[in-house]
This record gives sequence, C-alpha cells and structure tokens, in this order.
Amino acid sequence: MSGLLPVDQALGAMLEQAPPAPPVQRLPLSSACGAVLADAVVASVAVPPEDNSAMDGYALRVADARRVLPVSQRIPAGAAPGPLAPGTAARIFTGAVIPPGADTVVIQEHCREVEGCVQLLEPVGPGDNIRRRGQDIAEGSRVFAAGRRLRAPDLGLLASLGLGEVSVYRPLRVALLSTGSELVEPGSGPLRPGQIYNSNRIVLSAQLHALGMEVVDCGIVADSPEATAAALENAASRADCILSSGGVSVGEEDHVRGQVERLGSLTLWRLAIKPGKPLAFGEVRGVPFIGLPGNPTSSYVTFCLLARPFLLRAQGAVDVAPVCLSARANFVRERPGNRQEYLRVTLAPGADGMLATPFGNQSSGVLSSVCASNALAVVPLGASVSFGDWLQVLLLETLE
Ligand code: AMP
Ligand code: MG
Repeated sequence: MSGLLPVDQALGAMLEQAPPAPPVQRLPLSSACGAVLADAVVASVAVPPEDNSAMDGYALRVADARRVLPVSQRIPAGAAPGPLAPGTAARIFTGAVIPPGADTVVIQEHCREVEGCVQLLEPVGPGDNIRRRGQDIAEGSRVFAAGRRLRAPDLGLLASLGLGEVSVYRPLRVALLSTGSELVEPGSGPLRPGQIYNSNRIVLSAQLHALGMEVVDCGIVADSPEATAAALENAASRADCILSSGGVSVGEEDHVRGQVERLGSLTLWRLAIKPGKPLAFGEVRGVPFIGLPGNPTSSYVTFCLLARPFLLRAQGAVDVAPVCLSARANFVRERPGNRQEYLRVTLAPGADGMLATPFGNQSSGVLSSVCASNALAVVPLGASVSFGDWLQVLLLETLE
C-alpha cells in the first residue's frame, strides 16, 4: 500500500541492527535505578532468611492450643529465640523469628493474657501467621535475568539479598542534534523574523535522561551540508548512538540524508505512521544513527515508538516493547488512512471500559496535543473506527 513501511517492520529491522551493549560497570544500588543488569542475579541467601511472624501474637504448637499456656519467652523483631519449651507459648512480634518447636502464631486479638499465661479464644491452624523462610526468594533461585532494566522495587529485592552493588551496563551515550537554521535555544532572547525556539532538544534530552542515558548535546545544526557533516562527525566521535531531529524530509534544505550517506550509510524510510512519516536510520562512521522528523509531535511519537526501543536495546535491555492496553473509541473515523495513526487521546473511565477521547487538533506541529493527553490510541492502517470500537492504547507515561 503506497510504498509506506509499517511501523513494526521498521522497528524489527532497527532492533536487528542494535549495537552491542556498552561496557559493564559496578554500581551501588543507590545509583542503579534505571540501569540495565549485565549479569543474571542468583540468590545466595533466602528471603526471608528464617521463618518469622507476620503478626503480633503468640507462637506455640498447634497440639497445645486447647490449653491455657504459660508464656515462656518474649521475642521482639531482631532477637534470636531459644527453642520453645513444650506446653508453653512465646510472646512474639511482627518480623520476629519463630522459635524452634513452634508451628503456629495466634494473633494477639484472638488471645487473653492473664498472669503470665495465655488463653486462646479462637481455633488455630498449623502455619497460621508464619512467613516461611524463602517465601519471597528461594536460595539458589534466579532473581533477575541479564538485560533487565532495574526499577525501584527491583533494587529493594537486591537489597533484601544483601547486595550493595550490581553489574550494569554503563549509560548509553547518545549524541543529540537539532537540525534547522530557524532554531534558537529558549532563554536566548526574543525571536527574530523566521526563527522558532528549539523545543525538540529539551523533550528528547529529558526522555533520554529518563531512560538513564547520557546526553551528548551537539546543539543546533544549520541547514547546510558543511554544518551537517561537521556535526555528524563530531557526534560520531563522542557517542554510542546519534539521534537527530529535523532535516530528513526530501526538500533541498534537508541535508541529513545526504551527509549520513556520505559519512556512513542510511535507509530513509517513509513510514506508515502518522504523525512522523519520514525516518532515517543508518550509521555514521559505524555509529548507529536515527534521524527523527522535525515536527515536535512527530519527533516525540517516533522517539517513543522507534528510537526508544532501539536505544534501550543498545543499552542492553532485553524487554523493550511498551505495554499495550485496550480502550474504547470515543470518536468516529470514517475514512481509513494509509498510515497507522497514533492519536493523542485522554483515557478516562467509561461505562464499559476506558474511553479514548482525541485531542481536537492532531496536527504534527501541535505539541499541545501530547501535553493535553495521557495516551496514544492506535488506529491501524486501513481501519475505520466507530464509536465504542476497541482500540489498542499506549500510556504516555510508559513510553517516556
Ligand atoms: P523538518 O523535518 O526539518 O522539515 O522540520 C519540520 C518542522 O518542524 C518545521 O516546521 C520545523 O521548523 C520544525 N522543527 C524542526 N526542528 C524543530 C525543533 N528542534 N524544535 C521545534 N520545531 C522544530
Ligand atoms: Mg528543517
């Protein structure tokens, strides 16, 4: 259909060409959030390390439960208990180790303590209120595979194993270029005629930082072959990957394609994606290169859908696919399009599932459409949409 390349095919081709992950470094857990594990983690200890109480109460033997039991010891969290004397109960607190011999914990609300003895008011069962050794992590089990991007709770799991450091890939260095002679940096004063402020740079660099990557800012590149070539050479000498925005259309002011071809190799795709039809992919002096379109919304969407998974894979991550959900269309699309469309929508609860309501102006130059939305709704290539149709949606928070 019209020679446009489907998004999935483009992404598949890109991922196949992802470079090897950066060198490995050891990082303290406190600096490892978002980093990608270079080695699998195998538990050398069990978590929790011992059976312990889930509640404040009394530890005892189920076989003794009918009687009034003398309280023979007190076990706060952090104490090492002695064996439970037969025919007695131990006062125990949440997180404290179960004394050898006890096989149940009765919560204090189900007991009456009178003069050093405890009387049970409710039936008890074996194992009640006991958190078993290894119930979270069994000793010897594989906790994480290599290639996992560490989230905050992952760091907690590693900490619970007693690990202070992990082997992760060093942050990917991404050179960022903003092409366009019309661009000036925000904060540098009022615009002269013909100028606009560079908004892609701040969006892309924030997204790269959020992925735990290092940004090598190569600034604004004027629309000339010389400036483009110099910027690309500089970028290639300083980074693991190069990301540019703008200059990949086929107009005579668009020099990215020609210069990437001269200094390396390039495929210029006309993607079946809206927004964001032109996308360049190749290498400059052997360094992978992605050329995003210049329109702010196109740049954002193609970053999320194509550059992000590619860069994550280059960072060493195995799982790079975004989580897809379903929502019902709160709109109509009568004429099927020849590109897969990523509508900026607001998801809100409806009577029968989440409802996706598109932002009014879906122009690729309108970044407000992204800011006002919380998801992208996918209108597949060639599809028309009726009210209530189920669509795939991607939460923006999971794409950034
Ligand atoms: P291009 O892909 O270079 O033809 O740019 C397409 C449109 O996006 C033009 O209107 C550009 O002015 C605009 N544009 C390109 N780069 C940026 C940028 N970094 N920030 C804001 N707008 C941009
Ligand atoms: Mg341009």
